Amino acid sequence: MLNVEKLARRNVLRMKAYASARSEKELDDSIFLDANENPYSEFGRYPDPFQRKLKDKMAELKQLKTEQVFFGNGSDEIIDLLIRVFCEPDKDNVVTVEPGYGMYKVAADLNDVFVRSAVLNDKFQLSAQNVLDKVDTNTKLIFIGNPNNPTGNAFDRNEILKIVQQVNALVIIDEAYIDFCPEKSLVTELRNYNNMFVVQTLSKAYGLAALRLGIGMGNPKIVELLNKIKPPYNVNSLTQNIALEKLQDTSQVRSWVNEIRNERDALRTFLKDLSFVYKVYPSDANFLLVTVKNASRLVAFLKGENIVIRNRSTMPNCENAVRISIGTIEENERLKIALKIFDSQQVAKYESSMAKE
Ligand SMILES: *Cc1c(COP(=O)(O)O)cnc(C)c1O
Repeated sequence: MLNVEKLARRNVLRMKAYASARSEKELDDSIFLDANENPYSEFGRYPDPFQRKLKDKMAELKQLKTEQVFFGNGSDEIIDLLIRVFCEPDKDNVVTVEPGYGMYKVAADLNDVFVRSAVLNDKFQLSAQNVLDKVDTNTKLIFIGNPNNPTGNAFDRNEILKIVQQVNALVIIDEAYIDFCPEKSLVTELRNYNNMFVVQTLSKAYGLAALRLGIGMGNPKIVELLNKIKPPYNVNSLTQNIALEKLQDTSQVRSWVNEIRNERDALRTFLKDLSFVYKVYPSDANFLLVTVKNASRLVAFLKGENIVIRNRSTMPNCENAVRISIGTIEENERLKIALKIFDSQQVAKYESSMAKE
């Protein structure tokens, strides 16, 4: 059993939270003269600091209690807040896997918290033992992307749970891409483990990256501490309203997910046939990790064609790897045409070099 109070920072436990202007009890038809707002403007009122309507809806969808749900200004804010709740600067550490999402280290570095990382094997699979080997008495958090970014694969559920079962730390499962493979979600395991916390986002499948809404789910004691230290109005009213609408009817999101998955699988097949492509990794997400003959040459060529992809070559086990997001059908067609041209140029170059010999 995780003792949240023991794991959290003393100053966070001791401090008093900012009391925002309005408490739960006030009715919507009250006259509000308490927050120095402009009564004339459409956007004159502060947003609900605890996003109650949205939280109730999310809890219903995820089959959780409202007290188990937290919202951040994107999941990036939740990652930062978790580090600030639990990690003592210049003393504690977080454990991550590499290659993995870059923001864990950025948030840790900003907060002067150490990062210890376990490298995935060449098939990018997770080994619980490799992660556990990095854990010491100052490890407070373990971040695992599932599906992982930039590799695209979801990990073996039992391997993740082995970590959760064996550590006296909080395991954060970052499910940013889970809507592309909902059957892999660990949200249903939250009832079995109070040292697991799941983070999701409306930025990917839900198509609301511009609005910034991240979701944290798990132990209500953790939610309570996140609420205590968050900026009071971290999720604005427009985001709360539009997100609520999107959650009330998920049919569009489901059809986007289907289309993107079909396009992803088609692009994977297409890429495998190109001569400069070495390996296309299996993906549970909306992007593909691809190793090629020369990643920087490919990235530069596509840039010339006004197509931007991500070079991931500097990450561990990612030599000459690029990450390609799945676009619209039209965008993917443009990409394929450009890749064909690049491919024939490579072949032509190769043939002319052979002719000279
Ligand atoms: C995109 C991404 C996020 C960021 O989500 P926001 O909610 O937009 O901040 C978090 N984690 C992973 C692994 C991502 O790829």
